[in-house]
Amino acid sequence: MYINNLDYNEMEKLVVDSGFPRFRADQLFRWIHGKMVSDFKEMKNLPKTFIEYMNDNHRFDKPGIHKRLDSSQDNTKKYLIELEDGNIIESVYLNYDFGESVCISSQVGCNMGCLFCASTKDGRIRNLRASEMLEQIYIIQKDIMTKINSVVIMGSGEPFDNLDNVKRFIEIVTDEKGMNISKRKITLSTCGIIPGIYEALDEGMQFNLAVSLHSAVQKKRDEIIPASKNYPLKDLIKACDYYTEKTGRRVTYEYIIIKGFNDGKEDLKELVKLLKNSNCHVNLIPLNPIEEFHGEAPTHRETVLINKYLNSNGINATIRRELGRDINAACGQLRRNYINNRE
Ligand code: SF4
Repeated sequence: MYINNLDYNEMEKLVVDSGFPRFRADQLFRWIHGKMVSDFKEMKNLPKTFIEYMNDNHRFDKPGIHKRLDSSQDNTKKYLIELEDGNIIESVYLNYDFGESVCISSQVGCNMGCLFCASTKDGRIRNLRASEMLEQIYIIQKDIMTKINSVVIMGSGEPFDNLDNVKRFIEIVTDEKGMNISKRKITLSTCGIIPGIYEALDEGMQFNLAVSLHSAVQKKRDEIIPASKNYPLKDLIKACDYYTEKTGRRVTYEYIIIKGFNDGKEDLKELVKLLKNSNCHVNLIPLNPIEEFHGEAPTHRETVLINKYLNSNGINATIRRELGRDINAACGQLRRNYINNRE
């Protein structure tokens, strides 16, 4: 059991069961998740007996930076992070106008098989623990020495395929005694795992929902997102509308534009038809090509025209500002390149 994987109540129980006063749990939690300290001996205001006991009986989940790449175009920094078992994941620091954000991974690899994504090429290797998700943020915050105030779970992995750990992660990262990140600043990105969306909502989880749509035509969507075959578009939209009903928040649909595949007149008409009654926002993303997928990116002009078409047809759409293109900031590219070069 890793001490930094415990939520507040579990930590309190552990401390009390070990014969120490309850308030020590409060201090311990603040050291670990507020000050991001991962060594008992550095926790200065705790008594020696307590530190020694903890040190002898518990340990930290301690990933570390394997490599960092800095974009020369903007402030984006991409991290390869090494886990205890030697697996490598990637996380990205993004400096947006609205704040400091980290995009984290939720699994090593991914089972969803999206054709345009480098993270899935070797399938899912394993789920990440909550502590491994938290540490991605702590490592980056300590490295750049700037307070992170928003998190997107949009790196490698499908968060709804690892829901228990993601739920635990959200609970800890939003705890006011820890990082205290606002529940409005946590975004989960899914390829559309419908049962996961309902489960999370019915359990009262709070998050912003981003859905990788990429086509409003079922057959085409199935082609690029194989998991979509189990989750028809009409049911997915229903689940997303349920999200809006339950939370009062709008859904973001991610739409990667692949030239000649999902950018035709009919494709856009279908997109308008599918979303016209939903409270949503469409994020247009020109394809960031990877070696294993031979799709072509649209030109900037083509992207602008698509954006215009959607907005003039009542769909709230914007073009995503591209950050870190020079450092393989698209999902899984850096890790994939690293693994390919290692083999
Ligand atoms: S896009 Fe997301 S869900 Fe699809 S394979 Fe990549 S990591 Fe998995």
